Amino acid sequence: MDLTYTEEEQDFRARLRAWLAKVLPELPARPSPDDWPGRRAYDLGWQRRLYEAGYAGLHWPVDAGGRGATPTQHLIFLEETERAGAPYVGANFVGLLHAGPTIAAEGTAAQRARWLPPVLRGDEVWCQGFSEPDAGSDLASLRTRAVRDGDDYVISGSKIWTSHAEVADWCELLVRTDPDAPKHRGITWLAMPMDAPGVTVRPLRTLAGSTEFAEMFLDDVRVPVADRVGAENDGWRVTMVTLSFERGTAFVGEVVACRRTLGELARTAKANGRWDDPVLRRRLGRLYGEFGALWRLTQWNVSEAGRSAGGVPGIGGSVFKLAYSHARQELYDTAAEVLGAQSLSLEEEWTLDRLSSLSYTIAAGTSQIQRNIVAERILGLPKGR
Ligand SMILES: Cc1cc2nc3c(=O)[nH]c(=O)nc-3n(C[C@H](O)[C@H](O)[C@H](O)COP(=O)(O)OP(=O)(O)OC[C@H]3O[C@@H](n4cnc5c(N)ncnc54)[C@H](O)[C@@H]3O)c2cc1C
Repeated sequence: MDLTYTEEEQDFRARLRAWLAKVLPELPARPSPDDWPGRRAYDLGWQRRLYEAGYAGLHWPVDAGGRGATPTQHLIFLEETERAGAPYVGANFVGLLHAGPTIAAEGTAAQRARWLPPVLRGDEVWCQGFSEPDAGSDLASLRTRAVRDGDDYVISGSKIWTSHAEVADWCELLVRTDPDAPKHRGITWLAMPMDAPGVTVRPLRTLAGSTEFAEMFLDDVRVPVADRVGAENDGWRVTMVTLSFERGTAFVGEVVACRRTLGELARTAKANGRWDDPVLRRRLGRLYGEFGALWRLTQWNVSEAGRSAGGVPGIGGSVFKLAYSHARQELYDTAAEVLGAQSLSLEEEWTLDRLSSLSYTIAAGTSQIQRNIVAERILGLPKGR
């Protein structure tokens, strides 16, 4: 990847920066983490503004409704939106960053036309129904059944840890369509409407008090066969595409946000006297180096994804996910050291971010699972079993 910016790219950056400077002051405050309907409206409102200004789905392929931007423009977009403090993708995480890209890569023309424009316009929210009570790391053990009945699948089972289920319109759902096949071969990837009869969502409260995820119970839910992405029983392959997006590019914008947070932390330490502690200063310095390296890894991942067929990120996503989730936890542990007693209040944004950072080494595949992937698929070490 060429790391110098062309005139066109510099122009793109300048226009984006000017647009952000104009629109951000007009935005209201983001609703609190216990107001998910409010957050949904806020996040979709921001998505709509991006869409109207031509910045939605920047890196999505043009035939999927995106702008077909170069990887460099995508990175500039991430840098500038984070630098300006623009809203985070929020409730649109699944739709924009992994369900949408999976449909763009694997869906039929009719499926792309149905599902992608509403994601880009900020009309519909997606959630991810992969995990089950006994199928998390070993995702292929999932038991939610789908049985063909005419033109429908009839689904029964349950899902857990479904982020944004409370406010989602659609769910990327994994079901078992052949219980007799080897476990990876009997799975199918479906798009399920969340308002279908038989779908029950029961919110779960996180450590930080937010109901950002939920349990989902499915009782004879009917989903048309036409809403299957990929072939029946080929869902594991489609799932690998989804997970490649989730681990490879979905978190990249957050690296820039963490670098900004680190800068804020150093300024706070200077203001409250903690900067005088050489051990703390060294820790901040190490984090600075680590996030710098993560940004380079991000550039590499985005660039590789841009070169691959369908823009699907490669296996390097597991390296990124592993390193990023630990660096993020260390960042917020360091924040607690800088802030002292202030970091114990649940009213503080820092405290909430610290609590949520604990989930990063679990969500989207635990660190142990990422290490297994790196060991087996990158380093070529023998499988444990
Ligand atoms: C904030 C958050 C949001 C989430 N959002 C969603 C969502 O929207 N949709 C969704 O489907 N899921 C979601 N998840 C679920 C997440 O994907 C799972 O929690 C994760 O895959 C781990 O599965 P598990 O919780 O069942 O743990 P388990 O699989 O039971 O693992 C328990 C422990 O055993 C270790 N372990 C298991 N197998 C191995 C192995 N082979 N080698 C080494 N160690 C192993 C794990 O690393 C872990 O430490 C979310 C989770 C979190 C925390």
